[in-house]
This record gives sequence, C-alpha cells and structure tokens, in this order.
Amino acid sequence: MPDHLHDVIVVGGGPAGLAVALGCARAGMDVVVCEKRTGVIDKACGEGLMPGAVRALAALGIDPPGYPIEGITYRQGATVAHAMFRAGSGLGVRRTALHDALRTGIYRQGVPVLPMAITELTQHDGHVRAGELRARYLVAADGLHSTVRDLAGLAKTGTTRSEGRHRWGLRRHYALAPFSSAVEVTWADRSEAYVTPVGPGTIGVAILSSVRAGFSEQLTAFPDLAARLSGAEPVSSVRGAGPLRQRTSSRVAGRVLLAGDAAGYVDALTGEGLAVSLTTAAALVRCLRADRPAAYDHVWKRTSRRSRWLTETLLWARGRPAFAPRIVPAAARAPRLFAAVVDQLAR
Ligand SMILES: Cc1cc2nc3c(=O)[nH]c(=O)nc-3n(C[C@H](O)[C@H](O)[C@H](O)COP(=O)(O)OP(=O)(O)OC[C@H]3O[C@@H](n4cnc5c(N)ncnc54)[C@H](O)[C@@H]3O)c2cc1C
Repeated sequence: MPDHLHDVIVVGGGPAGLAVALGCARAGMDVVVCEKRTGVIDKACGEGLMPGAVRALAALGIDPPGYPIEGITYRQGATVAHAMFRAGSGLGVRRTALHDALRTGIYRQGVPVLPMAITELTQHDGHVRAGELRARYLVAADGLHSTVRDLAGLAKTGTTRSEGRHRWGLRRHYALAPFSSAVEVTWADRSEAYVTPVGPGTIGVAILSSVRAGFSEQLTAFPDLAARLSGAEPVSSVRGAGPLRQRTSSRVAGRVLLAGDAAGYVDALTGEGLAVSLTTAAALVRCLRADRPAAYDHVWKRTSRRSRWLTETLLWARGRPAFAPRIVPAAARAPRLFAAVVDQLAR
C-alpha cells in the first residue's frame, strides 16, 4: 500500500522512537517505525536509568530487567560524596535489554518496524512523504547525528564560546559484581568515569572526555578504577559516541517533529538522556493527539528545561580549571546541597 496515509512515521527505533511509537499506538494512532539497523540494538550509553525514566517506562507498560540504582556517588582521589535518590529507584539496564523490552511492547501493539534508513523527505499540504511512506506527521528520533534534523533544516551548527570543548563518550562492560547500588562517578582532569551496575555480575564503565583517545588510554586517568578492573573479563566490545553536544534551532518544522537526542543534546554527565527522551516523547504524543504539532516546541523546552539547565551548569563548571577540581570537594562538604541536586536529577 504505497500511498496509504499513516498518522505517524517514526524514524529511528531507539528508546525515544519506540516510546513515541508505543505512545501513539496506545492513543489509537496508525504508526509505523523505520529503523536502519536490524535485531536487538546496542549503543554507547552509561545505561543508568534515573527514577524519572523508570516511571516513564512503567507508564508505557515497560519493565526492563536490570539492577536497582539507589543513588549517585562522586569520587575524586580520596574525596567521596554520596546521595540517595529520594524519588524512588533508578535502574541500570543493558541497552540490549531496554531495546528488547521496548520492541516487545511495540510488537504487542502491532506496530510495524520496517528495516529501512530514511534519507529523504518532502513536506506537502496535509502530509509528509519519506521514501514510499506517507503520514500526517513524521517524528525524527534518529539519534545524536540525526539525518532527518538536517533534512528538515532544524540543525544549528557550531558551538558558542561558553559551550566549551567537544566531548565524546566510550563504554565497555565487565564481568564484575557491582561495587555498590549507586552510579559511581570518578572525576579526573579532563574526563569522568561512570560505573553502573547492570546485573548481579555485570558492570558498565562509561568514560566521557574532552580528549579523543581509546578506552584503555582513557582508563589510565583513573588508576584506582583501572586496578579494580584489571583481571576482570570484558564482556562487551568498546562502543563510542560523539561529539555529544548537538544544537537545534527548533523541535518542529511543519509536520516534522524531533524526539530524543535528535531534538538536541547537551552532554551525558548528568545521565538524564533517557529520562528526557522518554518524558518528552510522552509530551510529543500528547501534542500529536491534540493535532497541535506546533505546541510541541514549547512543551519540549518546558519539559527538558530543568535537565538542560543542570547539565549546562555542571558542564560549565567542569570546563573551567578554577572550578572543576572543586566540584567533588564541594559536593562532599555540602551533602544537603548535593542531595538536592541528585534529587533534581532523579525526577
Ligand atoms: C557515553 C554515553 C553515556 C550515556 N549515559 C547515559 C546514562 O547513563 N543514562 C541516560 O539516561 N542516558 C545516557 N546517555 C544518553 C542516551 O544514550 C541517549 O539520550 C539515548 O540513547 C537517546 O535515545 P534516542 O532514541 O534518541 O537515540 P538512539 O538511541 O541513538 O537511537 C536512534 C536510532 O535511530 C536509528 N537511525 C539513525 N538514523 C536513521 C535513519 N536515517 N533512518 C532510520 N533509522 C535511523 C539508529 O540506528 C538508532 O537505532 C549516554 C550517552 C552516551 C553517548
């Protein structure tokens, strides 16, 4: 049926795209997903779902297997700051497990997932065309380096001075019992290492850095962590992503709407990407349901404001030699303030 008019085409079958598709299908819309990769999808990610992300998944009926996360620990040398989540538990979840759970939900709703890459689109009166497909709306959830964002003219290039240097991320898994039930973040001069428990015998190690280098080389900035990992069996290959910051001029162009990382991304250092992707996905579905696509830009800004502000603020301090070494000591000296910040991240 090449000329069938769908309600929504979703480009990208990552967490954002599948959450949008699931929400649309549950609201009775005729939705189709286009994903260029096949099988269960893995991705470079710290894999820490904040409590807000866990709640957003539960609202979609998705309960992926994982390891409960009760808080966040910051380390720098001998200095340690720890805060518990007050707004419920988070979850360390392998991306493959998250994808599998979302995909099962999608299939249960009868949503087709077509194995295809979208590389062209045109907008017309009343519909969008992408290849052979036509729909009233197209949602671009094709990730950090979104093709559709470029096609729709919504990308903003360059960085401003205050945004600082580009950053990249790498991750690898090890067969090790979790160090604790927290995401443990170790701060070094130009990078941070995030250890996230994703199962009783598996941890994920993600490193975010403003320097491009291989995983083993990056690990040398964290001698204590490297010592704990030495001898442990790596159980995944290294995956990377970046540059992390992606700017957009708007989240809506006519009948094309941006979701997830495609909508704009600051950095992974607060571990909120999935929570923001999932909560803004729910907001997007509400806008489509009300046939008010233009309202989404405002709603996206409102829904993601707190997270963007926290991430920008921490990233700004992180990028300044006068402030960066003081972040963890300040968190340790002011535990209530640190707990309040962690509480904001957890929402
Ligand atoms: C190193 C690192 C650590 C992170 N740690 C955390 C963390 O601990 N907690 C957290 O919440 N977030 C974290 N994030 C952020 C999180 O990974 C992202 O916010 C999340 O993956 C966004 O999901 P998405 O669906 O928008 O994009 P993606 O997961 O990238 O999915 C996009 C999908 O679109 C598909 N696609 C791309 N182009 C096309 C096309 N043209 N046609 C069809 N399909 C296409 C891709 O194959 C892919 O499956 C981290 C990110 C990085 C890089």
